[in-house]
Amino acid sequence: KFISIEGIEGAGKSTQLQFIADYIRSHGKQVVVTREPGGTSLGEEIREVLLKSTEQAMAEDTELLLMFAARAEHLQQVILPALKRGDWVVSDRFVDATFAYQGGGRGINEQRIKQLADWTLQGCNTDVTFLFDLPVALGQTRVEQRQQQKDRFEQEKQVFFERVRNCYLARAEVEPKRIKRIDASQNIEAIQQQLKHQLAPLLEA
Ligand code: C5P
Repeated sequence: KFISIEGIEGAGKSTQLQFIADYIRSHGKQVVVTREPGGTSLGEEIREVLLKSTEQAMAEDTELLLMFAARAEHLQQVILPALKRGDWVVSDRFVDATFAYQGGGRGINEQRIKQLADWTLQGCNTDVTFLFDLPVALGQTRVEQRQQQKDRFEQEKQVFFERVRNCYLARAEVEPKRIKRIDASQNIEAIQQQLKHQLAPLLEA
């Protein structure tokens, strides 16, 4: 089974990623935990290029293509082999992030992204995607509290994240079976209860 988690900055993805992986492992399954952009050594190098803040702005198409370059590598070297072995894959972001960030956020035409997705993914997509959703302002407050240096995307303004969030929500409405919205403004225990509930049918299948 292939699971991804998505959400805007400060949605608490990292904590829940670990919980999901541990919960699935506690049912005797092998789990590969991975992330995008990244997940392979080449993909991590591409991630550095994407996240690094430089004086010179990156063209939107370049950003989009680098995301898909990293994803092609990730899919072929890590995700597909793992699924073939019968392992579970839990990824911190996957293709929905590109529709949300490069599509919703940057405004790249959805059809263009879809073409690249069709070409790169060859029909492979997640079984379930958990969308950790919360108001942008709350996410921003949580990111501020981290006090790490912000990456190139985290420096974007609130309106950018509003567009990203709305795009995620719209996708969840169109594909409610695959994309499960989780209210990430709740406390950690409540979120984990909801995750267990959502994971149960997958673990039984
Ligand atoms: O998931 P994480 O927060 O570690 O992602 C790193 C950065 O890459 C984030 O700022 C995220 O918004 C950005 N990103 C993006 N487009 C993607 C995937 C990630 O802009 N397709």
